[in-house]
Amino acid sequence: MKYISDELNRIKQSGLYRELKVVDNSQGTHIEINGKMFLSFCSNNYLGLANNPTVIKAVKDAVEEYGWGAGASRLVSGNMKLHELLEDEISRFKGKEAALVFPTGYMANLGAISTMVAGGDLVICDKLNHASIIDGCRLSGADFRVYAHCNMEKLENIFRKSAKYNRKLIVTDSVFSMDGDLAPLPDIINIAEKYKAMVMVDEAHATGVFGESGRGVVEHFDLNKEVDIVMGTLSKAIGSLGGYVTGEIDLINYLRNKARSFMYTTALPPAVCAASLAGLRLIQKDQSIRESLWHNVHYIKDKLRSMDLNMISSESPIIPILAGDAQRAVDMSTALFKSGILVPAIRPPTVPANSSRLRMTVMSTHTKEDIDRLLDALSDIKGL
Ligand SMILES: *Cc1c(COP(=O)(O)O)cnc(C)c1O
Repeated sequence: MKYISDELNRIKQSGLYRELKVVDNSQGTHIEINGKMFLSFCSNNYLGLANNPTVIKAVKDAVEEYGWGAGASRLVSGNMKLHELLEDEISRFKGKEAALVFPTGYMANLGAISTMVAGGDLVICDKLNHASIIDGCRLSGADFRVYAHCNMEKLENIFRKSAKYNRKLIVTDSVFSMDGDLAPLPDIINIAEKYKAMVMVDEAHATGVFGESGRGVVEHFDLNKEVDIVMGTLSKAIGSLGGYVTGEIDLINYLRNKARSFMYTTALPPAVCAASLAGLRLIQKDQSIRESLWHNVHYIKDKLRSMDLNMISSESPIIPILAGDAQRAVDMSTALFKSGILVPAIRPPTVPANSSRLRMTVMSTHTKEDIDRLLDALSDIKGL
């Protein structure tokens, strides 16, 4: 087992070692670590729903009625009323015929992609797609091509050499999780139509955040009819847990029958579905939550633009500041940590070498004072 300690030493020496922090309270804007309070700018709980009182009440009620565990996979006896209600709500919200819920977004991508394409097919990804998409592509056994980030010329070049494939699938994040920019969905759709490819969009960071009614970037670009498969997660803005795929009824029945990460795993506890349902309903009922989020995003970005920091241009509540070297990113993050602010250093392999960064995420529940405190701290560490 010496290779394990050798590898750990190598990781440590290159500034890439990762350690867990332990949080002792709920996931709000202020979190407690080792008895000390930190201002958090790293949660995907964009709308504060992970500890919203309405959501918590829905979970308590569901536990009273349905107990906790689901006891079996969905296809055996774990499929409870709340799973069905949640899928109905998701498909209605997303404007698709049907939806299928998986235990996580990771498993939704893994299951859906590896079931949609197989050996002899072609699957195409943006270079910066989420790891769960990449893993789904690899698992599928299909020929797997990657184009430079958002580069439509490179995408089309791949298609020019794709005549031999009869099944082709493009998969893209809609909001890229480490850069915070948007995929050029209208261009992707045009190219896909020209080369008769299916399109799958991952709305993990977009659901509840983008679009007039919070449906995501697909809504933002008004492309719901054109995108064949929309997936997303219930674990980010929805504040809960679970992944989903939406599309035509046939697609969903197909996945139900063939996607292994759906078939061979235990159903989510029903109360988790109750939390997701409550979150989805709040997002639809109360637009002001999303408005507060965007108010905060615009405020912080305006301020950051006037500071001498290497902000990567982002179109979302994900705000990266380029550090370059992994160690510099860690030093900046550590300095913020010492002043009581939690902003993670993102390093390879999550991002390409020499593009290590601080990655901040803004929440609807941050106050102006919270954001000003972050801005002050950032201005103190600029010179690191
Ligand atoms: C977070 C994320 C996922 C995975 O979702 P989980 O529910 O956390 O497993 C998938 N795709 C993207 C783009 C993500 O950011």
